[in-house]
Amino acid sequence: MASSSTRPVYSSMEEKCTTLGQLNPNSHNWFVKVLVAKKTPIRNTRWGRHMKLVFVDKENGRMQSIIYGQDLEQLDKLLDLYKTYFMGNAKIRQIAANTPILAASEYQMVLNRSTYIKLCSQLEQLPITNIYQLTRFAQCSEFADVASKQINLLCAVIHVFPPRFVQRTRKNLQDFVIVNEEHRPMLLTLWEEFLQNEGPRLSENVHKVPVILGIRLSVNTFYGLSVGTMPNSTFLFDPPIAQATHLKLWIKDNKDYIENVVSRKLYEKSYQSIDQPADSQIRKISQILSVKSFWLKATLKVSEPQHCLYVLACPDCSRTCGAVYGYEFTCLYCGSNFPSPKPLLRFQVDLFDGTGNLPAYLENEEAEILLGSSAEKIIEAKHEEEDLNPCMINEKLKDLQFLFQIRTSRNETRGKTFVRNTIVKCLQHESSSTVHTSKEPSSSAQLDRNLLTDLPMIESQESSSKIEEEQAATNPVQCQTSSTGKRGLDCKEMTTQKSFKHHKED
Ligand SMILES: [Zn+2]
Repeated sequence: MASSSTRPVYSSMEEKCTTLGQLNPNSHNWFVKVLVAKKTPIRNTRWGRHMKLVFVDKENGRMQSIIYGQDLEQLDKLLDLYKTYFMGNAKIRQIAANTPILAASEYQMVLNRSTYIKLCSQLEQLPITNIYQLTRFAQCSEFADVASKQINLLCAVIHVFPPRFVQRTRKNLQDFVIVNEEHRPMLLTLWEEFLQNEGPRLSENVHKVPVILGIRLSVNTFYGLSVGTMPNSTFLFDPPIAQATHLKLWIKDNKDYIENVVSRKLYEKSYQSIDQPADSQIRKISQILSVKSFWLKATLKVSEPQHCLYVLACPDCSRTCGAVYGYEFTCLYCGSNFPSPKPLLRFQVDLFDGTGNLPAYLENEEAEILLGSSAEKIIEAKHEEEDLNPCMINEKLKDLQFLFQIRTSRNETRGKTFVRNTIVKCLQHESSSTVHTSKEPSSSAQLDRNLLTDLPMIESQESSSKIEEEQAATNPVQCQTSSTGKRGLDCKEMTTQKSFKHHKED
């Protein structure tokens, strides 16, 4: 009681605080409330030993700060990354020309042991979202396949797959299943450098359902919608933010759901609900320049003539092979022996939207759903002389409008650039109602999990010309267009029900 009467004018430090934007070399008797957004290691340069920090205030104003010499150890210990402090009466100095600036301000705060520094209470902490804007799972598709668009995602890690090596990209990766309150489980892929620390840490703690904040992740459409690390990504384990506390409570209350996601593999692409793209996301064929991923509202025609609607591929790495269906072969890419190659649907289609036409590949499940038949069935039907032919398919498809999500990849081979458009999602446009949408997976969804074994990287700049040559030599469909060497991993998430053919007949 006595202490409260000794408190002078201010009931809390908060009221005494100004913002970083107000500070300049003439400021005196000031206080700020700031979050430590960045800390560099202690460095020894020609200016002596020092470390730099970046502070962020509640208005998202930023200022760099520097600590020198004898003050370093003590202040380094005192100031924790992502914690909030009241600070005051440090020197504000103009940053010398030709020195790197970590924050937008031309001034920096010089901290020493005379600076007023006080850790804020738990209630007074600034949310870390002041630094990192969080993306909802539902918004992820807006950022798909654009390396420059990175997202920050708060999630719980509920399942781990073993790390594996990807032959084609010569890189190591590890997949995890993540969820949050939105009930949209996804895969998170850690690449290379993240397998040293983050990978083992997540694997060892996965039974505790760790909550992490993934910072600067990329969004991919290689296996449904998934997120992956970029070289500049980082992770915060158990981040000190209100949303994380909320997520932890949600985890406690949703143990059954989490178990269900893992046991029923609800993270599989075929379970992902696909949102209709906003009108602004849909492009005209005539306007497609060099975008990597886009939506089209178009009709579809199977290109004619077409030698074959499927390719034979390695069941493990999915690369096409020259083997014969039903006969044992050895995959020369992954070295494994198989009783038979696996047939995968893959053929060329033309998309029309009234402004032009776009050739694209339709593959795997997307193709299966549209045809109402699998590659195996087509092979078997062939033996009985009743083949699915493009002419027949086109007759059925001719009046249907679809929304297609297309991914474009470019490849340089012998000085020529080849562009390959792959349909990664196919939704029937609202106006036509023949095909219903459903979240039920098609029967082959689970089987095709092994297609993941050789996921390409998001930036497929690395040359795959060798694969291409080999594919061209063995694969009549690809020979026709000598398109890029990307394999059939792209399209498996159409939620349209499998039996298009049957619906038409009903
Ligand atoms: Zn193989």
